[in-house]
Amino acid sequence: MAVPPGAPVSPLFSIRETPHAGRAVFATTSIPEGTLLYRADDLTLSVLLREYRREVCGQCFAYEYGRDLQIRDKIVGFAFCSPQCRDMWTEEHGPVGVQAWAAVEKLVKGRSKEDSELVDSRLPRPTKKEIKAAWDTVAAQAGLIRMARQGERDANVPSGATSTEGVQVTKQHRKALQKALLQPISPDIMSFCVSGILWLYQKPGEKARLLALASDETPYHNNDDLQAFVRTYLHLLAVLPLPLMPLVTPETLFTLSQRDSHNSFGIRSLEDDGSEFFGYGCWPAASYFNHSCGPNVEKRREGRIWEFRAGQAIDQGEELNITYLSGEERKLSRGKRMLVLKKNWGFDCACARCEET
Ligand SMILES: [Zn+2]
Ligand SMILES: [Zn+2]
Repeated sequence: MAVPPGAPVSPLFSIRETPHAGRAVFATTSIPEGTLLYRADDLTLSVLLREYRREVCGQCFAYEYGRDLQIRDKIVGFAFCSPQCRDMWTEEHGPVGVQAWAAVEKLVKGRSKEDSELVDSRLPRPTKKEIKAAWDTVAAQAGLIRMARQGERDANVPSGATSTEGVQVTKQHRKALQKALLQPISPDIMSFCVSGILWLYQKPGEKARLLALASDETPYHNNDDLQAFVRTYLHLLAVLPLPLMPLVTPETLFTLSQRDSHNSFGIRSLEDDGSEFFGYGCWPAASYFNHSCGPNVEKRREGRIWEFRAGQAIDQGEELNITYLSGEERKLSRGKRMLVLKKNWGFDCACARCEET
């Protein structure tokens, strides 16, 4: 099988299609315990939950047991562990990225937390049809907002509010934009969308790495989640810098959700068994390792990089597995583990540990 774009490559393993679990990683040689198998440094989009923004470094995700970090950039709404991290963040984001986060921060700041963003897993996930309908509902308003922004672009040309395409920006356009801004804001969903849009803007050639990942047809947890994404789309149309506008589309946002679903890794504290959940990110290469409740590979985050090591001696031909469960979840009974995996990752675990009990 041809190596999918973004898949991990190593002399120690190869990627193969499996009958029931999609693609998986298999040892091509016997591997001693402790061997470093892979370092995934291909972070695409990431979300640092808003409640952790002062405590977790926006660049390297360092955490000091809940202490506020010293270097805070209130304009973009991130804190950093060192001047180096701040500079690296600024450089990697570039002027458009900095402008985008500043626009979002301005929008979010001062608004009380309007969405709990808590996922109630009992609610049904919106179907494909419902997803399409929800995005269609705002198409007209989105078109008006786009035109209002087009007017902003043209405000600098001598013809005044008349765009180059002859579109007259009227009160109706500006009203659509204002109406969108009055809608409740979901800061973490907004971070997800902005991070993904910026990644696509900065690295258009790497989109294939994301597209090669398993795609979820119904990625929204429930109707509230879907509605929050749709509202966020309009918010972003209203505030993001103009160069990003071509990427602010339902297609882009839906694609990001489809690939993020079941592929993202939690960004947790490195101490105390990862009990603090700061956010999550998508490292395409890391997504090729399948889950087992008794994994033979250990993963550990080092800043923005995931390291994978053989947790035990591995035979040639054996599948390389990590666990998707957190420290606490690993200790659960088989039935409870199955429920967690089904709920969060959408599969029925058939690993050796689950099969033998
Ligand atoms: Zn840092
Ligand atoms: Zn299992």
